[in-house]
Amino acid sequence: MKDQNCIFCKIANGEIPSTTLYEDEDFRVILDMGPATRGHALLLPKEHYANLFELDDKLAAKALVTAKKVAARMKDALGADGFNLVQNNGEAAGQTVFHFHMHLIPRYENDGAGISWTPGSATPEEMAEVKRLVDEK
Ligand code: AMP
Ligand code: ZN
Repeated sequence: MKDQNCIFCKIANGEIPSTTLYEDEDFRVILDMGPATRGHALLLPKEHYANLFELDDKLAAKALVTAKKVAARMKDALGADGFNLVQNNGEAAGQTVFHFHMHLIPRYENDGAGISWTPGSATPEEMAEVKRLVDEK
């Protein structure tokens, strides 16, 4: 299913032009227009799924295999020193476009891209509580 009002549906299906690094029957990988680093790309399914939780299981599996294949090519071609796969779900997690996508972010020594967090601390009680809540589901 496509969503008429979704910009990534239009890009993934070629209605809006993009710089495409890879395409098959299920996915398109495009360059991000606001890149974190040189070569930052987005993997978009051609069908509309708002986020990971809605994504079809078969496509979810294929998304990672496809990301792996394209990321390996990109890393080589661009001489990247490392690579981040980032995938945001929900506003609280930084998602701004509500069509599932994976960020493919080549990393270079000292590139200054801020994909990190300050480690917090968790008490044994908190860890046990989290485990109990998840186990109960
Ligand atoms: P997220 O915050 O995970 O939802 O990521 C959305 C990403 O889409 C951001 O990195 C934007 O720079 C990128 N983006 C939004 N609109 C476009 C567009 N028309 N073409 C390419 N990238 C886009
Ligand atoms: Zn869409």
